[in-house]
Amino acid sequence: MALIVQKFGGTSVGTVERIEQVAEKVKKFREGGDDIVVVVSAMSGETNRLIDLAKQISEQPVPRELDVMVSTGEQVTIALLSMALIKRGVPAVSYTGNQVRILTDSAHNKARILQIDDHKIRADLKAGRVVVVAGFQGVDEHGNITTLGRGGSDTTGVALAAALKADECQIYTDVDGVYTTDPRVVPQAQRLDKITFEEMLEMASLGSKVLQIRSVEFAGKYNVPLRVLHSFQEGPGTLITLDEEESMEQPIISGIAFNRDEAKLTIRGVPDIPGVAFKILGPISAANIEVDMIVQNVAHDNTTDFTFTVHRNDYQNALRVLEQTASEIGAREVIGDTKIAKVSIVGVGMRSHAGVASRMFEALAKETINIQMISTSEIKVSVVIEEKYLELAVRALHTAFELDAPTRQGE
Ligand code: ASP
Ligand code: MG
Repeated sequence: MALIVQKFGGTSVGTVERIEQVAEKVKKFREGGDDIVVVVSAMSGETNRLIDLAKQISEQPVPRELDVMVSTGEQVTIALLSMALIKRGVPAVSYTGNQVRILTDSAHNKARILQIDDHKIRADLKAGRVVVVAGFQGVDEHGNITTLGRGGSDTTGVALAAALKADECQIYTDVDGVYTTDPRVVPQAQRLDKITFEEMLEMASLGSKVLQIRSVEFAGKYNVPLRVLHSFQEGPGTLITLDEEESMEQPIISGIAFNRDEAKLTIRGVPDIPGVAFKILGPISAANIEVDMIVQNVAHDNTTDFTFTVHRNDYQNALRVLEQTASEIGAREVIGDTKIAKVSIVGVGMRSHAGVASRMFEALAKETINIQMISTSEIKVSVVIEEKYLELAVRALHTAFELDAPTRQGE
């Protein structure tokens, strides 16, 4: 008999009919003999509606009071789901974060889980009950309700699975798993059976929005096997685990991630002296702007060029800061470009394979796509290219790394 934590997101509990469907599903699992803890989000749109209400009172709602309010979304769904289970003859009980005692710090609207008391849950499971827990919320040491940040129910699910040492944490959502890339860009994208935490983190941070990033970090840290599944379709989903299986069929690249969220800034003709990188990036970080890729050119005539990327939302701000720096250090000019995109190939398989980067560059060269910046890590190669070539690049790489699904007969 296994202990499974099942998390259902907002769309999966978006209507009463859907909540009934989720209850049917949970019932089947329960009848299979497993112990089940269910974590639910608020009904889809509800958290937004609540935040909206708060903003009608004040543009910047008091964080503590906002938490009191937005936590009600999940309180509604836990009660409805428990009722639906009980109606079906499945003993069930619902708990808010406070009732379980999901202890968090006091950082309202973005709290972190510190500890979970598993006593009540264990007793209920022992008594044969399904336990339904509100996602996204906890309580601080003073008894204040806290929430974990948008999408935080994933983290609740994983944290509960870790605390209970569950066999698996299943995240039910509106897609049937994690794909090699966005199927809207590459119709031949395939569902992955398996992916490692490390790869998933890279994919997630690069814009594949299946799971909240923090939940993946958490799952990796505590080694909680995570599975992404479709709420209302049968299928194995995608398992996210620690192990990198050494198999012949293991692809070198697991997926291709991309985003259009970044902008590029270049400061040219910078005097090539010690401390210059710090002089450039110090004020940027002091302005709370996060820098992603960085390239410094080899110096020529005692000056160098320095290029980095930031989030597009920070572009104007970064430009202002950099222009100020340029005049202070006597750099020649500052130029910027917001029409860039970042494309990355991700895979633990590249650790043991040489020539992965060159294969990537070859595929881009064949499409005459110019590479503006490159960065690498142990399991990732990223390039910055002109935004208008993004889709072409992703398709070309998907084919070059043999990720395309075999075409079915007649297609
Ligand atoms: N209801 C919260 C939100 O919409 C938490 C979640 O859905 O995971 O962000
Ligand atoms: Mg959600």
